[in-house]
Amino acid sequence: MGRYTDSVCRQCRREGEKLFLKGDRCYSAKCAIEKRPFVPGQHGQKRRQKTSEYGLQLREKQKTKRIYGVSEKQFRNSFKKADRQAGITGDNLMILLERRLDNVVFRMGLASSRKEARQLVNHDHFTINGKKANIPSMLVKAGDFIKVKESSAGSAKFEDLKAAAAYKTPPEWLEVDVENLSGKVLALPGREQIDTVVSEQLIVELYSR
Ligand code: SF4
Repeated sequence: MGRYTDSVCRQCRREGEKLFLKGDRCYSAKCAIEKRPFVPGQHGQKRRQKTSEYGLQLREKQKTKRIYGVSEKQFRNSFKKADRQAGITGDNLMILLERRLDNVVFRMGLASSRKEARQLVNHDHFTINGKKANIPSMLVKAGDFIKVKESSAGSAKFEDLKAAAAYKTPPEWLEVDVENLSGKVLALPGREQIDTVVSEQLIVELYSR
């Protein structure tokens, strides 16, 4: 499956809630779901939401995929990996999604959205423990040191991001040095430290059908 290329705001309208995919715009009056709080499409205002058990499970999976910006294939692979790990599969899944490098850059405050973080990683602006890190799906480990490359740090883009990051609060499992555009993974997060509002148990039930 290719990457989703339609307006990201349609994804929020499809799910009927804010997924915060567009950075600062999501907190402004320009947010599409504030202006058009109904499902997109010609019959969006009339269409009823599915309420079957399967429909709820499917929507929760779609919502989670959209929040983290991952493809169906990547999401399913993450689920399989989570299922093989010890512990609660739903918790494992959320922790795996949270450990993605693009998400970590976003959590560090060095991008306004996960989408922007993914672009920055793709464009080779980051290192992990001094080594090239340009794959958004790379999983960070406890102790990893993530840093913007010296060659990128002085750019106007990162000066702007640095200014914005100074007003953001990273999660407790990350230690961020905004001035040096770097951060350390103090420990992997527990589910209770991940503020993404999804019912991952519904996803587990969906894939267990
Ligand atoms: Fe969703 Fe943000 Fe667009 Fe609002 S502005 S609809 S929260 S992506």
